[in-house]
Amino acid sequence: MRKVAVLGATGSIGTSALDVIARHPQRFRASVLAAHRSVDALAELCLRFEPDLAVIADPALEAELARRLRQAGLKTLAASGSEALNQAAAGELCDTVVAAIVGAAGLESTLAAARAGKRLLLANKEAIVMAGPLLLAALETGGGELLPVDSEHNALFQALPPAAASRRGGLDAAGVNRLILTASGGPFRGRSRAELGAITPEQAVAHPNWSMGRKISVDSASLMNKGLEVIEAHFLFGAPAERIDVVVHPQSIVHSLVEYADGSVLAQLGNPDMRTALAYGLAWPQRLDAGVKPLDLIALGRLDFQPPDLDTFRCLGLAYAALRAGGTAPTVLNAANEVAVAAFLDGQLPFLAISEVIEACLDEIPPEPVANLAQLIQTDLTARATAQRMMRRLHC
Ligand code: NAD
Ligand code: MG
Repeated sequence: MRKVAVLGATGSIGTSALDVIARHPQRFRASVLAAHRSVDALAELCLRFEPDLAVIADPALEAELARRLRQAGLKTLAASGSEALNQAAAGELCDTVVAAIVGAAGLESTLAAARAGKRLLLANKEAIVMAGPLLLAALETGGGELLPVDSEHNALFQALPPAAASRRGGLDAAGVNRLILTASGGPFRGRSRAELGAITPEQAVAHPNWSMGRKISVDSASLMNKGLEVIEAHFLFGAPAERIDVVVHPQSIVHSLVEYADGSVLAQLGNPDMRTALAYGLAWPQRLDAGVKPLDLIALGRLDFQPPDLDTFRCLGLAYAALRAGGTAPTVLNAANEVAVAAFLDGQLPFLAISEVIEACLDEIPPEPVANLAQLIQTDLTARATAQRMMRRLHC
């Protein structure tokens, strides 16, 4: 029986993870559930899953959570704050952690789980973009497994030989030429910059193939999601920028591909449903029913592939630039993007200005070699303050 901590339990990934867990009660138990501020949703989940511990990130809400749990007659303990979250991720109550908090807020609990040797199902891509070298070091220290849940990286993990999938052997030793990430292109695929001037948050979060949280939906619309994923692939599989390509594939059926030296290309296909990657990570190396609809190739009929439009969607190029610059540049990229996306969702920043803010931050803050967590947290704060300043200067 795996005891699973679902961090970000009330979100899109958290909900999908709990759906897979609920389908296999003999194999998995949701022993820890954590969320940000949604006490109602977290309390509901506690009623359904009866975890040992529920963590609400906002300390002001702990008393209310505890009251709800008591009222329902549950034995579930309530805790709050980031320290409680880190302890839950590293503690005895779980052996597996689904890192599904959105943004840099998930970094420390992800690191704590890695350091403690848990099986880490990584959805929180911002954590590895912000602190890739530290996450890899924490995994080394802890000796646990990392199972990528991001659908593209899960596909690459499945299409690579085991040693290369877990960085134990290099890509050259495995005969790998290139990693090819697929991108849906988002809701604005095919549009020009001129057509993106007046985009609203509602238009940006309406993704054609996937139902996801608001932040990642905007990232998908700007292609920053793919940019973050290029950096994620670099750290997960040790591939340099020039060996990671992006191809737009509007149907989101081919989740990514590995090109080998002999001309073979191995891909993983499936309907766009995150439960496939989550079930894979939970059960690995076995396979489980994830509740996902079987793929009907005849009904699909065709699969299309196109180059990404880097002139319209500048965020993808900025992410490659940050990866090439190295050191703390991805940390700056991620922080500036989080600030700009939040401002866009708040109606304070035009869609096209997201890339301008990020570019200005990358220009202003010179990259340094990654040293430690304190340095990265400081870089993250500096980049956030710089992004706010750039937004005032540029548009607001
Ligand atoms: P979401 O917005 O639906 O859910 C986010 C979750 O994180 C919620 O449970 C929320 O309560 C929690 N949270 C937010 N801020 C927090 C904080 N400060 N402290 C503690 N908890 C906090 O987001 P999502 O779509 O589920 O995405 C989660 C992560 O998974 C993101 O990093 C995203 O990039 C990644 N991801 C998502 C998908 C997808 O299909 N949704 C696919 C691949 C990767
Ligand atoms: Mg993805």
